Amino acid sequence: MDRPSNILPSDGIVSQLRDIVGPEHVITDIDALENYAHDETPGYSAMPALAVKPASTAEVAAVMKLAHGHAVPVTPRGGGTSLSAGAVPVLGGIVLSLERMNRIRDIDQANLMAVVEPGVVHGELDKALAQAGLFFPPDPVSLDSCTIGGNIAENAGGPRAMKYGVTKNYVTGLEVVLCDGTVMRLGGKLLKNVTGYDLIDLIVGSEGTLAVVTEATIRVLPRPGEIIDLLIPLDSVEQASLFAQSVIAAGFLPAVIEFMEGEVVRTVGEYLKRQAPFSDANAHLIVELDGSDKAQMRIQYDRVGEMALRAGARDVAVGQSAADRERIWEVRRKIGEALKSEAAIIAREDLVVPRNRIPELIRSLQTCARNYKATLFAFGHLGDGNIHADVGIRGRREPKERPADPWVMQVRREMYRITVDLGGTITAEHGVGLSKIDFITLALDKTAIDKMKHIKRIFDPANLLNPGKMFP
Ligand SMILES: Cc1cc2nc3c(=O)[nH]c(=O)nc-3n(C[C@H](O)[C@H](O)[C@H](O)COP(=O)(O)OP(=O)(O)OC[C@H]3O[C@@H](n4cnc5c(N)ncnc54)[C@H](O)[C@@H]3O)c2cc1C
Repeated sequence: MDRPSNILPSDGIVSQLRDIVGPEHVITDIDALENYAHDETPGYSAMPALAVKPASTAEVAAVMKLAHGHAVPVTPRGGGTSLSAGAVPVLGGIVLSLERMNRIRDIDQANLMAVVEPGVVHGELDKALAQAGLFFPPDPVSLDSCTIGGNIAENAGGPRAMKYGVTKNYVTGLEVVLCDGTVMRLGGKLLKNVTGYDLIDLIVGSEGTLAVVTEATIRVLPRPGEIIDLLIPLDSVEQASLFAQSVIAAGFLPAVIEFMEGEVVRTVGEYLKRQAPFSDANAHLIVELDGSDKAQMRIQYDRVGEMALRAGARDVAVGQSAADRERIWEVRRKIGEALKSEAAIIAREDLVVPRNRIPELIRSLQTCARNYKATLFAFGHLGDGNIHADVGIRGRREPKERPADPWVMQVRREMYRITVDLGGTITAEHGVGLSKIDFITLALDKTAIDKMKHIKRIFDPANLLNPGKMFP
């Protein structure tokens, strides 16, 4: 078999692909292909030779078999919202877009399970589950465009992870297609299952490098009837962190403790052309409480509010109605667009440390960014120790820098070193993908990397499935 390369698959392959998925679902037009050349990771792109859009497991299997036989690389793709360049077809070849496999096959209230195809957009699943009084707890902020297949491949988390965990805690069954087109089924609507090695957990978070997910069985929960959000402005990151720890130590388990550093809040205000609430505070928290008993919830939010004021909060804004809650979340939801508009972002990191080390992490990262005449924009999921740390140059919109520029690599390397020294790791939920590939040795020892490479070779000996990702 030939080595995979950035070759245009021969006309013979293209016509066979057209036979498999239908001619209109094989994309070869350069302008249309541009959409499949990048994801949401700044600075990374690579043109595929073509994109195919299968509509069934049988079609995925046939595409994989054909690509395997001709040694053509295949990059699976969901919503293209990856922040680690995971969906960028770095070796060209075929982009396998799962966008047409977007059916919700079953919502099973008796077993609290749903069976979905991989291209179902997260937000669409949420709407369907809401009608049945249910919800799927992992909640990536990109939920309006990311897909369940992409969530599984990245083991996505989100603000609610502190209470509810991440995607892998909810996947109980998978149907996958292997690199040679073999279909494999694992698990089912089972809450307990220790039959053999746990291949489901291995595939969840494998970033499309081991198998293509074509169906998932996921656990869902009864939707909480009541949700209350508190917006809490504080004077420092230290104060915010100590308050969060005290809330947890007092026995409360909020669904969310989300954090925004003052610089970030002020930047969103500049972008919105109005002052954000409490914009002179240096640390903002959003604490979300959920449950079903209104009276209990009231007691909880009163107590958490009192604790916040005792911890030095300037005020506590309470959102109970959907409109008030939306107002509380507005600044948090606008961070992505605001940073893109107000600064040239050269690095978007999702670092994780033990929860109580967040203040040290942020202080050290601020110093690191300043040393490079850049600004740190820190926000994210304080409740589970996961901070998004964007580094940008204010006053410019487009980065002149490329990800591989030596000083960008240097600043990122320093950020990762700081994180690992605090007992953390280089990615909490966005994945290694392409963008962190040069840094994986900072976070994993050689034996672990060797074992992982071995697993990759067992699943994909010819290195055709999402090649060029995860390992150098
Ligand atoms: C504004 C914004 C906010 C975000 N917030 C969060 C957040 O809060 N939490 C979080 O965890 N992430 C977040 N992300 C990152 C991203 O949305 C997640 O990683 C998401 O899970 C990617 O899903 P996707 O469908 O877009 O996948 P894609 O970007 O298309 O692909 C991601 C990876 O999954 C693989 N893949 C896709 N589908 C399949 C499949 N069916 N089988 C096998 N492999 C597959 C691809 O090959 C690629 O490696 C955010 C991104 C943005 C842009």
